[in-house]
Amino acid sequence: MERIYIGMGSNLAAPAEQLRSAVDALAQLPRTTLAGVSTFYQSDSLLPGQPRYTNAAAALDSLLAPLELLDALQAIENDQGRERLERWGPRTLDLDILLFGNRLIDEPRLKVPHYHMQERAFVLYPLAELAPADLQLADGRLLRDLLAACPFVGLERTPSL
Ligand code: ATP
Ligand code: MG
Ligand code: MG
Repeated sequence: MERIYIGMGSNLAAPAEQLRSAVDALAQLPRTTLAGVSTFYQSDSLLPGQPRYTNAAAALDSLLAPLELLDALQAIENDQGRERLERWGPRTLDLDILLFGNRLIDEPRLKVPHYHMQERAFVLYPLAELAPADLQLADGRLLRDLLAACPFVGLERTPSL
């Protein structure tokens, strides 16, 4: 069993509903237990002209291998109507693997820890609700230090479940 943290985001087609459906789908993954879901947060898109995002994090305990989990997450994204038209385009659902146990993964399809998490308040603050305060990433960084360097700006807690 490894503890995995997933970052979730949506800015199309009723984002909070998309995240709720994604949580239900995560809870049904094989050989996996849903261990927690953060508050939902809204924020403006980093790219101009897109609808506001809703983001959250989920914790899983799973026996799936990393690429098996990635395949399953992409299947959930596709089931919920994810279209890949442009990079960082608006999306019904994005499910990213933030952390996978204590693994460092550097494969063409999968980089863990997620390579943009340190810059993204909408990833770090939901994650911090679920992870232990002294969490150390596989690359040695402390979650606490990432949070200290990434101000809680532009995030709005929103009704979630
Ligand atoms: P960003 O990576 O900046 O958050 P994004 O989530 O919008 O952008 P996607 O279109 O969802 O990007 O995914 C592009 C590719 O990223 C996927 O096909 C997947 O193979 C790859 N990828 C690499 N590392 C990860 C990870 N940790 N979690 C999910 N996908 C990943
Ligand atoms: Mg993403
Ligand atoms: Mg993604």
